Amino acid sequence: MSFKHSFIIGVTRLRKEPGSVASFDLSGQLSDLKLSSSYVEEVELIEVDGIAESVHGGILVTGRIMTTWKGECRRCLGLASGIMEIPVRELYERVESGADVFSEGDTYTYSGDVIDLSEMVKDQVLLDLPLAPLCTEECKGLCASCGAELNTGLCGCDNQPIDLRWGALDVLTDEDR
Ligand SMILES: [Zn+2]
Ligand SMILES: [Zn+2]
Repeated sequence: MSFKHSFIIGVTRLRKEPGSVASFDLSGQLSDLKLSSSYVEEVELIEVDGIAESVHGGILVTGRIMTTWKGECRRCLGLASGIMEIPVRELYERVESGADVFSEGDTYTYSGDVIDLSEMVKDQVLLDLPLAPLCTEECKGLCASCGAELNTGLCGCDNQPIDLRWGALDVLTDEDR
């Protein structure tokens, strides 16, 4: 795949001119972006844009990551998906090539004249993936008695699985966002 592994910023000029800024607008694909409940498909395009700034101590990368996640709805077990937009602000410290590349706390490292954002993008997407996705905020889920999917219609069971008070709360949380 031609898009793979293209989260690379050239920093030759930034390193020569402290205080200078360069903008970037990258897109690519990554594998292994997966939790038990949600994931970003390997073919999904991940966009990363922002600025790289030459600061004391390294290169400060500020921007945002945008992509689409998919997963299993926690109520109806159907497909859930959504757009994620993650703001990022990370300092990259330069290490001599050949030195062990480490990530200490919030700081990433690079060597040579390029910064590869892939590891940071991976970390951020994994942190942002929903742990308990919903297909829609209004999802009615499955009937507790017969297991029918209530989004497609009522199953005829006696018990009323939807508590309207909880439905109202869903709307409130939605508006709070
Ligand atoms: Zn659902
Ligand atoms: Zn039922």
